Amino acid sequence: MIRLTPYRSERRLVQLVSTLIFAVMPFLNLLRMDIPTLKFYFLNTILWVDEFFLVFLVFMMAIWIIIIISMVYGRVWSGWMCPQMILNEVSIWLEMRIYRLLGRKPRQSGESGHPAAWIILTAVCFVISLGFAFLLVGYFVDPYRMIADILKWNLTPVTGGIILALTLIFTLDSLIFRVKFCTKACPYAMMQLVITDSKSQVVRYIKERDHECVHCDACVRVCIMGIDIRKSAYQTECTHCGDCIDACNAVLNRQGKPGLIEFSYGEGGVRDKWYQKIGFVDAKRWIILGITIAFAITLVVMIHLRQPLSLSASGDRSTLYRPATNGDFINDYSMRISNRDLETIEFLIRCETPDGAYALDVIMDENPITLLSREENLLKISIQTDGQWMHPGPNPLVLSAENTDNPDVKAVTDIVFFMPEEDPLAGMGVNIGQ
Ligand code: SF4
Ligand code: SF4
Repeated sequence: MIRLTPYRSERRLVQLVSTLIFAVMPFLNLLRMDIPTLKFYFLNTILWVDEFFLVFLVFMMAIWIIIIISMVYGRVWSGWMCPQMILNEVSIWLEMRIYRLLGRKPRQSGESGHPAAWIILTAVCFVISLGFAFLLVGYFVDPYRMIADILKWNLTPVTGGIILALTLIFTLDSLIFRVKFCTKACPYAMMQLVITDSKSQVVRYIKERDHECVHCDACVRVCIMGIDIRKSAYQTECTHCGDCIDACNAVLNRQGKPGLIEFSYGEGGVRDKWYQKIGFVDAKRWIILGITIAFAITLVVMIHLRQPLSLSASGDRSTLYRPATNGDFINDYSMRISNRDLETIEFLIRCETPDGAYALDVIMDENPITLLSREENLLKISIQTDGQWMHPGPNPLVLSAENTDNPDVKAVTDIVFFMPEEDPLAGMGVNIGQ
């Protein structure tokens, strides 16, 4: 069958969309690990360090997505979406344009090239690499803050140094290393060898029609990796870009024949069911897809069920207790409270015994307190009681924070209240009434 749309057009579209996604993800907090605050952003939801199981689920889901895509569609990430490959292809395209602008023949492999072309290409690649480096660092440091710091010429030396170092690495990569990185050092390519099997998608030469090959070598000349796909569909250098398919189609379609190279799941065979046509050719693939979906559903449910509030408190153990002017006793605490919701919420802080029989006075500057979305506060609070019903020493209590508009949104934490022994002031050096 003669294919009308070249794979290259589709690939350029996918590369454009994936570059845009790569660029906007940190700005929209769709996927970002904020190192300074140790918060993990996923789909505009914050996962905190103490919610490690959710972060773990995100990573597990990502790993299974990589496994299922690689197992079914082979090395499609490398040829169609990888930022490194996109940078290299842009660099190669720029080089050709620059040589054309200078009225010179394009540099051939092994030639040193024209100095003016090198200078222009280096400058343009440096600027593009700077953009890539900024976006990459934006996955770990708030990109809006970085822009504000850059405008104020106030970027921290560490952040600025990392951006500069990455820029130099990307510039060198796009000028010199190019696809050598893909074949020699790419970890994804190495992982690919383990994940794929004999039924994964490959780009294959249809050997059954070998006699139709006109030996024009168009498929070899167009290959960015410099390989001849006719030798084998399982060459590790092949990034499954599809350019050789387009090249062969262009040659043979002129003779009214379909091309001799195709995307195929393994070495082909009958694939007439709809699910076989999209690569799900055996039970193994369905099982892995099922595991991936299970992780995704578990993650969504867990995020949905999580309390948008976190509360913890620790007692001031330098003074276990202190007397109040009315004869009551007071314990002091540091309380950490964070609003993990996307809205501003008002919380009422309460303290009571574990069985709910007694409520104790909570002394704070303000109660209820209002927390903005994603705000975290460390507050000093005190609990006061006459302690008639308490025994000397530690007494368990429960501290709670409750949304004043929705009592279902509530966080609790256990604390301990210290009551003095028989003579409460012995050894404390304080007088009631101080
Ligand atoms: S062999 Fe074909 S599909 Fe593989 S990298 Fe070369 S041009 Fe792309
Ligand atoms: S482009 Fe097609 S016809 Fe030309 S050498 Fe390659 S496989 Fe043969």
